[in-house]
Amino acid sequence: MMQKILILGAGPAGMAAAFELYRAGKSFIVIEKNAQVGGLARTLQYGGFRTDIGPHRFFSQNQYLYDFIEDLLGEHWIKVDRLTRFYINGKFFFYPVELKNALLNVGPYKAFRILFDYLSERVKKIFVNRSPVSFEEQIVSDFGRALAELNMLNYTEKIWGLPCSEISPDWSKQRIKGLSLKEVIKKALIKSKKGPKTLVDQFYYPDLGTGLIYEKIKERILSELGGGVLRLNSYPVKIIHGDTKITEVVVNIEGNNQVIKPEHVISSIPITEFVNLLEPKAPNEVLEAAKNLKFRSHVSLFITVNKPSVFPDQWIYFPDKEIPFGRIMEPKNFSKKMSPADKTSLLVEFFCWENDKIWNASKEELFELSIKWLEKLGFIRREEVIDYFVHKEKYAYPVYDLNYKENSGKVKSYLRQFRNLQLIGRAGCFRYNNQDHALEMGILAARSIIEGKQYNIEEVGAEEEYFERGYVM
Ligand SMILES: Cc1cc2nc3c(=O)[nH]c(=O)nc-3n(C[C@H](O)[C@H](O)[C@H](O)COP(=O)(O)OP(=O)(O)OC[C@H]3O[C@@H](n4cnc5c(N)ncnc54)[C@H](O)[C@@H]3O)c2cc1C
Repeated sequence: MMQKILILGAGPAGMAAAFELYRAGKSFIVIEKNAQVGGLARTLQYGGFRTDIGPHRFFSQNQYLYDFIEDLLGEHWIKVDRLTRFYINGKFFFYPVELKNALLNVGPYKAFRILFDYLSERVKKIFVNRSPVSFEEQIVSDFGRALAELNMLNYTEKIWGLPCSEISPDWSKQRIKGLSLKEVIKKALIKSKKGPKTLVDQFYYPDLGTGLIYEKIKERILSELGGGVLRLNSYPVKIIHGDTKITEVVVNIEGNNQVIKPEHVISSIPITEFVNLLEPKAPNEVLEAAKNLKFRSHVSLFITVNKPSVFPDQWIYFPDKEIPFGRIMEPKNFSKKMSPADKTSLLVEFFCWENDKIWNASKEELFELSIKWLEKLGFIRREEVIDYFVHKEKYAYPVYDLNYKENSGKVKSYLRQFRNLQLIGRAGCFRYNNQDHALEMGILAARSIIEGKQYNIEEVGAEEEYFERGYVM
């Protein structure tokens, strides 16, 4: 094959790399196992209904990325007024926090408890100077136990399927760095004074779903001007290497094996899969470390509904343990174009392990589990349901357990010997990236090749404040 640059995976990271190479006039080949580009950020279509795989709100500290997307989408890049809530113990809490709503919901005793626990932690910090060793210790120390237990610990355990004492404090460092009760109250007060709208109150969104960004990149890179090739329904079978280079990659392209001899490889496929395709095999301790890297999976039930609207929120979180799902989104509240005008849809999200009860549940079982609650919550009635569909993603979240850093470090340091290999993206780097950082990683990997200069891709997002310093995903 002619192309000397091989990109594995056509999610946001791989597509950004492809686009940057295309703009520099380079030829490349992208290999993607799905029939569609966009990875976890693709948009699924069921007749006249569209949905993303979970809510995809674009946020970045980097203006370059907004310009990058605006250039691709033009008038399809719309601004959305955000409304998101938590449902806890039968009450709806606005998120980000609105002080009046929060105080009315928790009542005076709980409010006092939250303040008391928080102040106790502040005092404790003066006398005990010990770094938290788990997510639980970190959160309790930052917010006090009462607030931590109200939703942060519950919700986190639901997402990760692990007790918070077994989750690395890195998770909180990456997601809620610097947030404190003081800051939550300050923000809530500023918000209640009706200040100008910020990127917390509004966000940008492609009007046909987040996957439109990657579909537009696809259109551009496949235009006649470029030397780009994209192969869908294709995947690597074997990655052959010498001491310092990947020399050949056998790829299955729509059913036929072909050999690519790449000068450069950019990989965004799960690092655990990549390392297992190597030939000669990676050392046992590297394979063992890869085996110990866990991914949390995501199952979603998409329900089409015969009424124009269900709730006003883009999504609602459900931390309570008795409720089997973790979040529900209504795609139409991101963009009217996600549903026919007189109808709407809901995406009910379950966080699970591959092959557990939820993963293996039938479509009908997931529907029965969900509809019971949707009726109880007053959202929809069974007879309003038009149809329902299930979607599964095995590699949804890299799990930051207490040993993840050591394990991913072992695998990455072994792979670093291959000088023509760059790892990018969420599963590719085993990093909890959102689209913005996946895009940045892809762009930097391409620039490393174009400019012959090494960028430190691992550093992308490492020092930045994340999201609105919120603690939810
Ligand atoms: C439920 C949920 C909610 C999210 N919410 C947000 C949000 O609000 N905002 C936000 O910005 N981001 C959000 N994200 C994260 C966002 O989806 C990811 O950050 C982004 O998709 C990562 O891009 P990537 O290219 O690194 O990886 P991926 O999207 O995982 O893409 C990797 C690609 O590689 C392909 N691949 C895998 N294995 C192989 C193989 N063996 N051979 C060939 N191809 C392969 C996959 O099919 C995929 O297309 C959310 C993710 C989830 C799961």
